[in-house]
Amino acid sequence: MILAVTMNPSVDISYQLSDFQLNDVNRCDEISKTAGGKGLNVARVVKLMQGNVLATGIIGGTLGNFITQELTKSKIPHDFSKTEKESRNCIALLHAGQQTEILEAGPTLTEAEGEAFLNKFTELLEKVKLVTVSGSLPKGLSASFYQQMLDIANKKGVPIVMDCSGSTLETVLQNQAKPLLIKPNLTELSQLEGQLFSEKDYTQLKAILQQERYQGIDWIVVSLGKDGAFVKYKEQFYQVKIPKIDVVNPVGSGDATVAGLAVALAENKSVEDTLKTAMTAGILNTLENKTGWIDLAYFDDYYKKIKVENY
Ligand code: ATP
Repeated sequence: MILAVTMNPSVDISYQLSDFQLNDVNRCDEISKTAGGKGLNVARVVKLMQGNVLATGIIGGTLGNFITQELTKSKIPHDFSKTEKESRNCIALLHAGQQTEILEAGPTLTEAEGEAFLNKFTELLEKVKLVTVSGSLPKGLSASFYQQMLDIANKKGVPIVMDCSGSTLETVLQNQAKPLLIKPNLTELSQLEGQLFSEKDYTQLKAILQQERYQGIDWIVVSLGKDGAFVKYKEQFYQVKIPKIDVVNPVGSGDATVAGLAVALAENKSVEDTLKTAMTAGILNTLENKTGWIDLAYFDDYYKKIKVENY
């Protein structure tokens, strides 16, 4: 089983407006409310890929209840740690092909609530083969929280696929117990390195990933949107080429890619099959309106068009 962790889940609300009027009343009759947060997108795509998944993290209040109800409706098993505080809403206003987002920060958690989650996490590790950890940490938890999760999982011999960014990723890289895999996109890698990268300059990417700070992490999958991915696996480098796609909505493709990686790694697939599975999941997400959603019927069509080449 794959354990998908979301520390700051949300109710994702999208309002489809014909026209957005600032400083005026905007009425809306096209509304969608779903269980959101990067790790829940991962859980949903793993489930759609017929993988065995359990969703966890910290939730609270009526919005927390809504999140678990939605997961239950989607037949995604879940086991969350609870807070007295209310989980968050994330609102997207869709208007004239544009998207305006209002993202609540979410509850500020106490150290005790963090501890309670770590206890649950430790218990859940007994029944899982692999963990995915996605997204940012809620306020109140220390920057070293993901390091603590890595240390616990490492002691139990359970690998972690870590998809985070900014200072959280920086902290993860400094830790002695390493994740099995990280999946930065080019912007996240640029932030981390404090320099801009061109997506086509694979020689530069290769030199960056050979640095000391990336040692000990088996897989580094730099996802490159329409250009596929550049990957380091142990001491080997790969360029993953994907077909040109007529994209409907790319949001959540990174999460779908993480789901594909997790499913393939849990099934001990070869390097080539793992990368093809991950890229196919990302591509399938771009073909859907919904975020963190894929239609498995098209899997084989795209899978066979992906090329993994040594670099
Ligand atoms: P997000 O933050 O939206 O979840 P990300 O920036 O983490 O995404 P991307 O690199 O944009 O991740 O996309 C992940 C994968 O999804 C890509 O490697 C690719 O397989 C697929 N993908 C994303 N965008 C496109 C696109 N425009 N055309 C084809 N495939 C795409």
